[in-house]
Amino acid sequence: MIPSTFPADVTVLEPRWVVPVEPDEVLEHHAVVIRDATIAAVLPAADARTRFAGAARVSLPTHALTPGLINLHTHAAMSLLRGSADDMPLRIWLSEHIWPAESRLVSPQFVHDGTLLAAAEMLRGGITCFHDMYFFPLAAADAARAAGMRAVLGLVVLEFPTPYAANANEYFVLGRHVLDELGDDALITCSVAPHAPYTVSDESFRSAVQLADEADLPLHLHVHETDDEVQESLTQHGQRPLARLRDLGVVSERLIAVHAVHLLDEERDLLAAAGAHVAHCPAANLKLASGISPIADLCRRGVNVGIGTDGAASNNRLDLWSEVRLASLVAKVAAGRAEAIPAAEALAMVTLNAARALGMSDRLGSITAGKDADLAAVDLGALELQPCFDPRSHLVYAAGRQHVTDVWVRGRRVLANRELTTVDANDVVARARSWAHKVPGGP
Ligand SMILES: [Zn+2]
Repeated sequence: MIPSTFPADVTVLEPRWVVPVEPDEVLEHHAVVIRDATIAAVLPAADARTRFAGAARVSLPTHALTPGLINLHTHAAMSLLRGSADDMPLRIWLSEHIWPAESRLVSPQFVHDGTLLAAAEMLRGGITCFHDMYFFPLAAADAARAAGMRAVLGLVVLEFPTPYAANANEYFVLGRHVLDELGDDALITCSVAPHAPYTVSDESFRSAVQLADEADLPLHLHVHETDDEVQESLTQHGQRPLARLRDLGVVSERLIAVHAVHLLDEERDLLAAAGAHVAHCPAANLKLASGISPIADLCRRGVNVGIGTDGAASNNRLDLWSEVRLASLVAKVAAGRAEAIPAAEALAMVTLNAARALGMSDRLGSITAGKDADLAAVDLGALELQPCFDPRSHLVYAAGRQHVTDVWVRGRRVLANRELTTVDANDVVARARSWAHKVPGGP
């Protein structure tokens, strides 16, 4: 028997278009039913009105409903350093500006306030999950939970001291403590994040692989971001970074290789054969003049590619809609082929591909019954988006994060008609401004 009324935990979304990502199609006159934290059904709207009569309804008459976007690489708390150091290459930016500022400022409160600012910004842009790499992950977890946002927190490993840890061993001790503290958390999981080949020793990489295997977690690291990194590795280790990482057991299906800009043919094949994933960060690569990752070629070889914003200090926005547009455009010019990375493929990179990289594609990344209800509604009714032949084209090439109106994470409506429901936006802004006064050279 079909009940005629439904409890408050059932909501029927009625968008103009459903863009499920998998299968790669556009559904019209369809509804998406949320029950508790889960997508209960995707079905014709007329059937939904009969089967779910009496359930709460959200009318989205000019909107495309997409899976919540997944930011495959960021340093969320660095939003507090946005615009503090621009227009310089990576090494100078890091060693003369970012690391000194962090050594003075980073604390659990800094990470909490910065992550909250980042979470609020990301939710307003349709991002429901971020893959982070930063210090004090439990403070980041508190902020993500408060915002009702999903996070995969990279347990960072470095060789040098920071306000978070004194040496490599202590980073591991703290990482294991974070895993114990979090336990089974519906919103927060972890990855193991040895920062980069130029900041992490062979011994620490071996320990990182061991921890990732033991706890069944992804490995999250910057790889082949700049040509300098490659040359320095040749001098110090007699090997390019990826060859060294391969020998240390890092290159596997657990690996999320962030950037992957400077790659020889055999390195591309190595990533493909290992089943490794790439987190492409086009804006940060352009801004730091690092280069352009050959993602069209990587995809052709079978590498799974997702997209990240990187931190707001090197982007300077946490905006996956602008990132996905850039990824597609830059891939075309780099490959010399306008057909490279078409809209639907680009859209998969910020949803299903990213979910795969995180080992979460059974729960995230597409609008499929049984998956978690992480969803974003994008209003394509604005003047600048007329006419609309295919919403996937508009989502990638024409629309922007300002057109995101509503967002759900595990069935909870965290953005409603462009208003955050979980976070006091004025409070977030006040906290960000108070930190800016403490940044060296700040306002
Ligand atoms: Zn990064």
